[in-house]
Amino acid sequence: MILVLGGTAEARALAADLHDGGVPVTSSLAGRVARPRLPPGAVRIGGFGGPDALARWLGEHGVSAVIDATHPFAERISASAARACLTASVPLLRLERPGWIERSGDRWTWVDSLEGAAAAIGRLGAKRVLLTTGRQGLGAFAQVLDVWFLIRCVEPPDPPLPPAGQVLLDRGPYTLAGEGELIDRHRIDLVVTKDSGGQDTVAKLDAARQRRLPVIVVRRPVRPAGTETVADVPAALAWSLAHAG
Ligand code: NAP
Repeated sequence: MILVLGGTAEARALAADLHDGGVPVTSSLAGRVARPRLPPGAVRIGGFGGPDALARWLGEHGVSAVIDATHPFAERISASAARACLTASVPLLRLERPGWIERSGDRWTWVDSLEGAAAAIGRLGAKRVLLTTGRQGLGAFAQVLDVWFLIRCVEPPDPPLPPAGQVLLDRGPYTLAGEGELIDRHRIDLVVTKDSGGQDTVAKLDAARQRRLPVIVVRRPVRPAGTETVADVPAALAWSLAHAG
């Protein structure tokens, strides 16, 4: 059986391809979202309990290979998978979509962390911010005063939150027209995003470019070297088929 560590569109697409090809696949989700989009095939939900417990799970379930297709900012599960696969002698592949690339007309400021993003907001003189970094870590913006935030996330965020603003519960994929309308309606003058990459949430960057709006982009965390990595689903599928046991 192939285990796909998921929570991304690529993980769902890979699970669907494996399932369609008759390869037994189980997708694993963290359980952060109340109504997750479920991939075809078997699904398990919730943390494993750390790398040693994951290593045991791999053995108990006869896993022949693991594909870590989690989000580029999900650091802990990737580290856990690397350790567990080493312990259990199970081959591991990382599927990670490429980051976004700045284009002509973009006005991006790169930062290393959410705290760095919070600091940059003041430097850029923004007053109305579309904040799309997700529900976790919003406390980094709790001390940003005199700025109104439109906080968009899939699930209601826990405090602490920025002092002024509004939460918008929504989930991609987003369209250029929709993102432009949102930016205009709320008179947004700055967009803050993680470098998530991919097509589903790129429209905000296109809408910002059209309006010459500045964007703060949080760099991806640096990942330890050593795990074989591919950038797209077809490459992950080919690897999975070769390791399907
Ligand atoms: P994280 O910090 O790397 O993981 C925290 C803990 O959650 C892990 O140690 C693990 O618990 C559990 N976990 C995470 N992903 C799991 C999975 N796919 N299956 C089973 N357990 C999982 O992760 P996160 O940043 O909170 O993200 C959680 C999930 O949301 C990930 O699956 C990711 O793909 C998805 N996601 C994250 C972001 C983001 O910005 N971080 C954005 C979109 C989607 P145990 O140690 O108990 O095994």
